[in-house]
Amino acid sequence: MMNVDLHLHTTASDGSFTPTKVVDKAVELGLKTIAITDHDTIGGIEEAQLAAVDKNLEVIPGIELNTDISDAEVHILGYYINTNDLKLTDTLSKLRNSRYNRAQRMVKKLNQLGIDITFKRVCQLAGEGSLGRVHIAQAIIESGYVKEISQAFDRYIGKGSPAYINRYKLTPVEAVKLVKRAGGVPVLAHPALAKRDYLIPELVNAGLQGLEVYHSEHDEDDVQHYAALAEEYELIKTGGSDCHGPNKGRTLIGTVDVPSSVVFKLKESTLDLVSLNSMSS
Ligand SMILES: [Zn+2]
Ligand SMILES: [Zn+2]
Repeated sequence: MMNVDLHLHTTASDGSFTPTKVVDKAVELGLKTIAITDHDTIGGIEEAQLAAVDKNLEVIPGIELNTDISDAEVHILGYYINTNDLKLTDTLSKLRNSRYNRAQRMVKKLNQLGIDITFKRVCQLAGEGSLGRVHIAQAIIESGYVKEISQAFDRYIGKGSPAYINRYKLTPVEAVKLVKRAGGVPVLAHPALAKRDYLIPELVNAGLQGLEVYHSEHDEDDVQHYAALAEEYELIKTGGSDCHGPNKGRTLIGTVDVPSSVVFKLKESTLDLVSLNSMSS
């Protein structure tokens, strides 16, 4: 029986369920522990925790930091983060501002290319969520220039396309250190999708404590491979569905088998950290 899902998105980033809705779904499915892990934001955590009061469901405060290396995006999850940590909240607002400025500049470039969309509309499409290229793509579709998100990326806003602009991002090592500093447990997200195993030793040195072995897009071979790597580096084997809301008629929440002992191990690691900190101070 599944009772843990440690990778969930909400409308605070690019998910389509509100935090309350995610909690309702989790309760409906009989889950015991979930983690809210929105991209570069902690905006959904408080609502989810409030919605979970008296529902026999633990909501772990989490995050998924998008980081960049030269040729790929690597995602770092953080669990049991202190959402009041100043360095964390400062960095997140810096990331948010850079998203905002970048989207504004991309709309300007698109206008110069003859694509008639407005920044205001892009912001409306993003709503409460964190502004991203997907919202620009939606505006382009609405205006009738392309039919699908992927076409908007291919023709206009994907990396290497005419209206693409880089944005400020953390490196994977910086993200691991940021999570640690905020009292959290850093975990490499969906390593089979990132396909950058060579980074693992460096990330372990920086403080990485877990590998997301179980994931909705990992097949059995991936699970075996990453379970072995986790053993080798003494990392916690975490997992989650990475549910963003209904997708092609399927909602992923609660569909990935994650051992419930993982939650205990994560909690234990944060305790280690507290005692280490108090020893060093
Ligand atoms: Zn991810
Ligand atoms: Zn995710």
